[in-house]
Amino acid sequence: MKSFVLAMDQGTTSSRSIIFDERSAVVASAQQEFAQIYPQPGWVEHDAEVIWQTQLATAQKAIARAQLSSVQLTAIGITNQRETVVVWDRRTGKPIHNAIVWQDRRTADHMDRLKTPPYLALIRERTGLLPDPYFSASKLAWLLDHIEGARAAAKAGHLACGTIDSWLIYRLTEGARHCTDVSNASRTMLFNIRTGMWDDELLGLFNIPRSMLPDVVDSSGLIGHTAATLFGAKVPIAGMAGDQQAALFGQLCLKPGQTKNTYGTGCFMLAQTGENPVMSEADLLTTVAWRLAGQPMQYALEGSVFVAGAAIQWLRDGLGIIASAPEVNQLAQSVDDSAGVMVVPAFAGLGAPHWDPHARASILGMTRGTTSAHIARATLEGIAFRVAEVLEAMQRDMDRALVGLRVDGGAAASDLLMQIQADILGIEIERPHVTETSALGAAYLAGLAVGVWPDCDALAAHWKRDRTFNPATTSATRQKRLARWRQAVALVKEWSS
Ligand code: ADP
Repeated sequence: MKSFVLAMDQGTTSSRSIIFDERSAVVASAQQEFAQIYPQPGWVEHDAEVIWQTQLATAQKAIARAQLSSVQLTAIGITNQRETVVVWDRRTGKPIHNAIVWQDRRTADHMDRLKTPPYLALIRERTGLLPDPYFSASKLAWLLDHIEGARAAAKAGHLACGTIDSWLIYRLTEGARHCTDVSNASRTMLFNIRTGMWDDELLGLFNIPRSMLPDVVDSSGLIGHTAATLFGAKVPIAGMAGDQQAALFGQLCLKPGQTKNTYGTGCFMLAQTGENPVMSEADLLTTVAWRLAGQPMQYALEGSVFVAGAAIQWLRDGLGIIASAPEVNQLAQSVDDSAGVMVVPAFAGLGAPHWDPHARASILGMTRGTTSAHIARATLEGIAFRVAEVLEAMQRDMDRALVGLRVDGGAAASDLLMQIQADILGIEIERPHVTETSALGAAYLAGLAVGVWPDCDALAAHWKRDRTFNPATTSATRQKRLARWRQAVALVKEWSS
């Protein structure tokens, strides 16, 4: 009998379900967007019930589209927006408040107070993260402190919390399982990434009762079964990981040094570092990649660029020089080079390795001959230069030169951007056939656990190249261009200081 694996991909703006067959080809999919809730400037929430309902509806739709009966589903894997946190009441199974989303900055003051050396060192050492409202811990503390009766209910053991994976598992199993995998746990700021356990000192620091927390499980392993009512039969849930870690797995970056970069609204670069949690000198994040059943925890280094595809959207919406994002390619290709124009796309400050929240985006080096095409091309180059800076920092931290980079995400569809990236990095860029890498990674994690694939080696043959981009510049040209870029970044930082 053929095997099919359902991946639930719960993202920030939509819930999606994709069914893969045993050759990891997409059999069917369904997607549903849901509302973003902005109660105040800087606050972002999701209705956790809506997250569950849209996720369930897309899974049911995908199963129907694939014309499968649930008995033919061998397993389910879950991947999800990370850090976003839900608190619910065990007595009713209902959330006590909307989920607080990773983008939410309401706890900025709280986290500022933890940027002093002793807290900073504790957080860095135990969690591999940096004090920032982005992670779950301060959001969870906020819910306990601001929702009426929450603290007392938590103390009495009535409340449960978790990231979106936990919430979905809880609902899928009708409350039978309350758990999270190591990769999601590592984004909460309450998890010791070395011991693989919740950390009492951090729980004390954020005043979170341990009784609220989910059990921590493997990213690949039998976790539980769905309630029979949902899909007509009980289906094993056997894999879960946060979206970026799942993408790293989906790209089959399974050996230390293998790296993927996702070009979405922003960029997320993750490098596999094996059993070794590499601490960064450039303030990159150290995070858990995954843990396969019976195997040691695997780690990754993570660096992000806040604005990547969003800079292309700015060309469309802010400047109006293109009508759609893909049009950037025709416009930028209409000139041979950017004729000395440089765009530093620091629309939301500069992340790793600069960490300058005050930096502002800039266009430098224009002449009377500059056209929209030069600006479009320089914008693509600016994205590629930022990615190069993160990659350089990773290479330094890992003390090894990377030989290749696997790419995915919406803007990785741009052949021009990928060629520019290869030229700036001087390494080979590989774009896979399936770019839904988070969903694919979740499917792989689940399928491995139930024997759809015997081991990781068997998966290696599944990685199918769509296209390779090879550097077409000399090392000297590359160095010259990078030096020029560094000059531009220095100017931008000085301007905003
Ligand atoms: P996210 O998951 O962050 O919403 P996606 O992976 O869907 O993002 O990628 C969307 C981004 O990709 C947009 O910011 C858009 O500007 C960019 N994009 C989409 N298609 C193309 C294309 N053909 N060429 C260049 N950029 C593109």
